[in-house]
Amino acid sequence: MSHLLIVEDDDLLRDALCAQLTQAGHMVTPASDGESAQSLLVSSRFDGVLLDLGLPKVSGMEVLCWLRKRLPALPVLILTARDGVDDRVQGLNAGADDYLTKPFSMAELQARLGAMLRRARLPAFGGSLELATEGTRRLRVDAKVPQAWLGDESLELTQREWALLSLLVSHAGQVISREDVLLAWQCEPGEGTGAGVGSNALEVYIHRLRRKLADSGLTIRNVRGLGYMLESTAL
Ligand code: CA
Repeated sequence: MSHLLIVEDDDLLRDALCAQLTQAGHMVTPASDGESAQSLLVSSRFDGVLLDLGLPKVSGMEVLCWLRKRLPALPVLILTARDGVDDRVQGLNAGADDYLTKPFSMAELQARLGAMLRRARLPAFGGSLELATEGTRRLRVDAKVPQAWLGDESLELTQREWALLSLLVSHAGQVISREDVLLAWQCEPGEGTGAGVGSNALEVYIHRLRRKLADSGLTIRNVRGLGYMLESTAL
């Protein structure tokens, strides 16, 4: 469950957003102007913000700039008017994570919001890492190259295998869900249910990675109903 701040001055839209997102399992706090949004952001902890740009007292753009200086990692989705192309560009430049143009469907909002919250929960892996194991060959990954090695030997990986491996490695010992993998593969929400990336395809990638990681002392475990977890004999 995420705690969301909903900043929107249109009463009808704000109430609808709150009702839908509460029903989707989130905890929501509404604000109807920029000033009250700021004081809520100071007094409470949020996992994400839905921010309308046209707001009374303090504008959404001002709130966004103010917010980025204080809480740089807090995910923000801005709501912009249909013809507000400048707003959208300005908002993204000011550090919004995503935007929705009004009018939008609740389904689209939930998909975008879900993806944004997952990205925030699983920060992109950008460093290098060597996993300590009791295996005969240690796995080392470097996201800057990007490349992975098993002992002295470099691993041949496709782009999707690389994305899957770096996700598992950077969250070793934690469960990675199917949705997390699809996000890492930059699939659109819902795409995974189609023919493109079915669960069989994901199983195939997992199987290939397991073979490539033989002798590494690492295992990719199926966690039934939840996803996959990379485990090391030495973790
Ligand atoms: Ca407005």
